[in-house]
Amino acid sequence: MSTLCRAPSWQRRGFSLKYILFTPKPPTRAFSTSPRGPGLRSLELDEPRLKKLKVNQSRLMDELHHTCQWGTGERWGEQGTETGMRRLSLSDADKQARDWFVDATKALGCNISVDAMGNTFAVRPGRAQGAPTFAGSHLDTQPSGGRYDGILGILAGVEMLRVLQENRVETAFPIGVVNWTNEEGARFPISMMSSGVWAGDIPIGHAYALQEVGGGTATVKSELERIGYLGILPASYEAMPMAAHFELHIEQGPILEKEEQKIGIVKGVQAYRWYTVEVIGQEAHTGTTPFGSRADALLAASRMICASHTAAADHGALASTGILTLSPGSVNTIPGKVKFSLDIRAPSDNIIDKLEKHLKSDFDSIVSTESTKALPLSVTWQTDSISPAIHFHKDCIAAVRASANSVLGDEALSREMVSGAGHDSVYASRRCPTSMIFVPSRDGISHNPKEYTSPGDCAIGAEVLLQSVLRYDGLRSNVGN
Ligand SMILES: [Zn+2]
Repeated sequence: MSTLCRAPSWQRRGFSLKYILFTPKPPTRAFSTSPRGPGLRSLELDEPRLKKLKVNQSRLMDELHHTCQWGTGERWGEQGTETGMRRLSLSDADKQARDWFVDATKALGCNISVDAMGNTFAVRPGRAQGAPTFAGSHLDTQPSGGRYDGILGILAGVEMLRVLQENRVETAFPIGVVNWTNEEGARFPISMMSSGVWAGDIPIGHAYALQEVGGGTATVKSELERIGYLGILPASYEAMPMAAHFELHIEQGPILEKEEQKIGIVKGVQAYRWYTVEVIGQEAHTGTTPFGSRADALLAASRMICASHTAAADHGALASTGILTLSPGSVNTIPGKVKFSLDIRAPSDNIIDKLEKHLKSDFDSIVSTESTKALPLSVTWQTDSISPAIHFHKDCIAAVRASANSVLGDEALSREMVSGAGHDSVYASRRCPTSMIFVPSRDGISHNPKEYTSPGDCAIGAEVLLQSVLRYDGLRSNVGN
């Protein structure tokens, strides 16, 4: 397959693409050729000046809904904005949203880089050269998704650039916004795919070869080529280093709304492990086999699933089964073989270890209770996936906390949280200081057309994002890197 690609649309329209090269030790002298001309103010990290930088709520929301014209999904209400989204990664709708992102950020004085995974980096120069501090998220959605998951994070990043521009703020170092490709893993089945490639954790050849789900022949690489987003910058943290990564995201759970709080200060992402558990018993006739003479694999598996729920609750963790298959699958035959998935999650690896041990012992005792001498049952575990707990960086968490307190004016309106879901920030955090900011999700719903966060809450989140990025930039300028 050719490694050449069609030039992205903005390039074909006559713009030149600038690839920014970063030196490991940036010079400290000021840019003398700032594209924004003389008279810019440099931002000293003082509270009153930070507080004066206000997000424009109606502009943010108008722009967000404007971009939802590309990939509009299922309608759920009367209002024009009351629809979900279906903007699958690397589709035509995704391309249109990407083109908007490039045009909007270019108009705000950013240099655009597209890497080999289509990750798109818009970078606004600072006073000194150096790796940018990024706000990042994703523009792709689930097939039956909403208007906020990922989209809010990007739109808040663009609003951040607008606020910096209209207030003529010059930051110490560059500030960027990144749109990561295929975060959802819905069309091409690896979630957080391209931040994973950037971080060096997912081989690019593996990502390129992924085929779209549903039997189509399109691959990640063929679709990147087709929509003109197969960039020439290597998809790597070495080619595009980040000083830090902040991500504003909807909570996708019920806690903030229930506690009547506005901001989640995200300290990390919970650990999870996935297993396939197989229970083997013996097939037998349902009418002629008394209970005492059965080795019912499904009955044992059911007790295991119930036990996993109880044990997880005792450990402050979660356990879920989403796939269950049994054989032979006949009304009048006792199932002899059952396989089920088991997904366990907890805030720390330590809890996951303890829960796994606890469950293995519980399942063994269920097997021995259900077995008879003549008809033993057996259980085997296969570990399918291990994702350790992610702990975000203390400086980024501190920047989010200080920003939340500044914007909300009341510590009781924010809380520290651990994310239950994976995000691009998981991979970003492997290569640079990272944290996230959560805003409330109505009824805790997401991956659903009815996903909703109020305009006021979106604006609060965007303002916390803006301040967090600026506080981190200020912190860097104080320590001289
Ligand atoms: Zn998301």
